[in-house]
Amino acid sequence: MTIGWMGLGLMGERMVKRVAALGEDVIAYNRSPKTIQDLPANVRVTQNPLEAVQGCRFTFVMLADAGAVEAALFDSGAIDAAGTGSIVVNMSTVGVEDSIRLAARVEGRGVGYVESPVLGTTKPAEEGKLVALVAGREAIVEAALPYLRTMAHVIHRLGNVGNGAAMKLMVNYLLATSMLSLGEALAFADRAGFDVHTALDVLATSSVWPGVYAGKRGMIEAKDFAPQFPVKHLAKDVRLFTEASEHWRARTPIAGLARDLLRRASAGTFADLDMAALSAWFRDDRQDQT
Ligand code: NAP
Repeated sequence: MTIGWMGLGLMGERMVKRVAALGEDVIAYNRSPKTIQDLPANVRVTQNPLEAVQGCRFTFVMLADAGAVEAALFDSGAIDAAGTGSIVVNMSTVGVEDSIRLAARVEGRGVGYVESPVLGTTKPAEEGKLVALVAGREAIVEAALPYLRTMAHVIHRLGNVGNGAAMKLMVNYLLATSMLSLGEALAFADRAGFDVHTALDVLATSSVWPGVYAGKRGMIEAKDFAPQFPVKHLAKDVRLFTEASEHWRARTPIAGLARDLLRRASAGTFADLDMAALSAWFRDDRQDQT
């Protein structure tokens, strides 16, 4: 049976190859025309979202946000083409309430829904080393596991839909504040007269040097901000974190500041750059005017 796929962005174009390696035919939808290097022979690309659902037992979704999922699945009419008992696995990062609402809409059409946002960026996506935060009805999750295992080397099973989104947003909140803090620390070091290499050398020997800094250090030093995880998606995730915090009345005041800074950073040319570019954003005096 054919596997459906939606979204061939930075993550989707890599993840779909992992699923294709299982050998089943894959029909992969992308809104705009997309050429993928080394596309496996069993993957066909389409701009028609209906094709990624029709006759497919599973449709994996890796789109920008909830609006994109709604456009591709519902506004296009694709969900009406889904067979009863088929399963949508949404791997995009969406809000907690978004995910619960999407699940209800999908299930309302007699289709199963698995929530599975992922931790990890383009390289782990390529290598099948993502971490999947999976939620949904047990039997449906079980059915999706063989596919999820091709993309993720760790699978957390988190219970009801909404829980995967909550854990994803928790992690990305910490990611965002870590990257913002690093940018601010480097701006401080710059004004104190230190070049970025010296500042990073000192930081790297301290106890406050997490894996993500090690991962982004090369990009920061080379000023190579080709996107792996774009600033605009980090901004979205922190906004979703603050929305869920407000809903639950969680005490997360730092997140409000992070959301506002990322909203500013993603309003201009930094939006599509990798989040490593936040190191440059803080040192750019023009940002004071925005
Ligand atoms: P991306 O490169 O920006 O790709 C976004 C995808 O969504 C593209 O296929 C895009 O189509 C599609 N899209 C956007 N708006 C749409 C619409 N209205 N209708 C139909 N399709 C639409 O994003 P990504 O980095 O692959 O990330 C995908 C998701 O995973 C996001 O939710 C992100 O937060 C999350 N995530 C990303 C990373 C990462 O490191 N990059 C890691 C974990 C999770 P077009 O090509 O036509 O624009």
